[in-house]
Amino acid sequence: MGKKRKKPNYMRGNPYISRKKEREALSSYWRYSYLKTDVTDILEADISKQNRSWGARGYYIATLHVCRQCGKDFRFTAQEQKLWFEEYGFFIDAYPGCCLECRREKRKQKAIKHRYDAYQTEEDGKLSIDQCKELADLIMELFGPDLDEKKRNRYNHMMNRISREERE
Ligand SMILES: [Zn+2]
Repeated sequence: MGKKRKKPNYMRGNPYISRKKEREALSSYWRYSYLKTDVTDILEADISKQNRSWGARGYYIATLHVCRQCGKDFRFTAQEQKLWFEEYGFFIDAYPGCCLECRREKRKQKAIKHRYDAYQTEEDGKLSIDQCKELADLIMELFGPDLDEKKRNRYNHMMNRISREERE
């Protein structure tokens, strides 16, 4: 019986990526040595799609960060990096300051603010009942317990119209 061949130790990183590729991937990250990487998550890049002034990234490797907003650890996955650098056109050195949940929350707040702002030029008396309901929801979502008098009046006005409508 021959000697049992030693299995390659791919499990150290991504089982679908050979040690050679892993080394290559890491070497394409020398400029990012200040970032913590996770070699279990590696993707090959399409460098023709990257937005860069010099030095392409041959691979994306998940990097580990701390969220500026909530302080939680988060991963900037290889898949996300591929999206950022090949689809969204972000500069190749960019990385997110906040975790995905905080980024989503921020986008949601922005969208709510945007919808609320559209009502600022509308006359309240001319709003439909559905618009009154939306505006009331937006005021609550945006200002919640910090309603000032003007906003509280507007909110109450919306609620009065809604309840009047429902009584009829
Ligand atoms: Zn966060």
